[in-house]
Amino acid sequence: MLNQIQGLHHVTSMAADARTNNRFFTDALALRRVKKTVNFDSPDTYHLYYGDETGAPGSIMTYFPFPHIGQRRPGTGEVGTTVFSVPEGALGFWRNRLGDLKVDGLKADETFGEKRLSFSGPDGDGFALVEVKDDVRPAWTHGGISEDHAIRGFHSVVMRLRDDGSTSELLKFMGYEVQEEKNGLKRLTKPNGNGAHLIDLAPAPHISSALPGAGSVHHVAFAVADRATQLEVRKALMDTGYQVTPIIDRDYFWAIYFRTPGGILFEIATNEPGFNQDEDTAHLGEALKLPRQHEHLRAAIEAHLEPLEA
Ligand code: ZN
Repeated sequence: MLNQIQGLHHVTSMAADARTNNRFFTDALALRRVKKTVNFDSPDTYHLYYGDETGAPGSIMTYFPFPHIGQRRPGTGEVGTTVFSVPEGALGFWRNRLGDLKVDGLKADETFGEKRLSFSGPDGDGFALVEVKDDVRPAWTHGGISEDHAIRGFHSVVMRLRDDGSTSELLKFMGYEVQEEKNGLKRLTKPNGNGAHLIDLAPAPHISSALPGAGSVHHVAFAVADRATQLEVRKALMDTGYQVTPIIDRDYFWAIYFRTPGGILFEIATNEPGFNQDEDTAHLGEALKLPRQHEHLRAAIEAHLEPLEA
């Protein structure tokens, strides 16, 4: 069993419109845009990163906006809900705020004894806020939201699976432990994790496979400290039979990817070097950053990309 994984690193999803996406995360949810770059594999489209002040692992929601993408069909083999942590007592504030902004799908309930507010993103993305007592992670309050209410990072993701058996086994191999099972849901936790250390598995044996599109989670990334630990995890996964990609330089972290038997694409990402490696923490996310291999295309890319701020 592995002990290098610390919890979630980032969640990456697809969106139909960059400007709408940027407004939703920076205005409605008041996260900080910590990087404005392009999809390294498709540099004519943005890759936008939102998170806390520094883009700490476990706080980073990222998006590929593809202007001509179709709508998704929700189903199994995907992350159904991405869940953020807010302080105890904050959900009333969020219910009013998101209600005033006409956000779809607002619904309050409880899961595993925690108060939860579910809602939909601009493309029908499944989101929720959960009240967490004593989440010590720092708040980004420059978005106009006080420390009593601000999002602290991820709480968990909910994986919707036709059969949760193989994914449950994989997560246990990755160092997670089953914490609780209730109402058909299984909650796993990574002991001594980074705050974003919970995963809920939701078996849905009679639901067909998801078809990806706008609002789908593209992949979920787990955090490891550095490249040395990433190599250990890669070797262990490959020794267990997983087909893992070579290590890929994503400028702000190093990444490896593998498809899980339940259908979800997993990534293992390093905490190093982080988002301030090419701009000051005070100015994160302001300038368009291009990876070295695409810098020669800057003029064409800048002419093509729609400005995020109207
Ligand atoms: Zn990723």
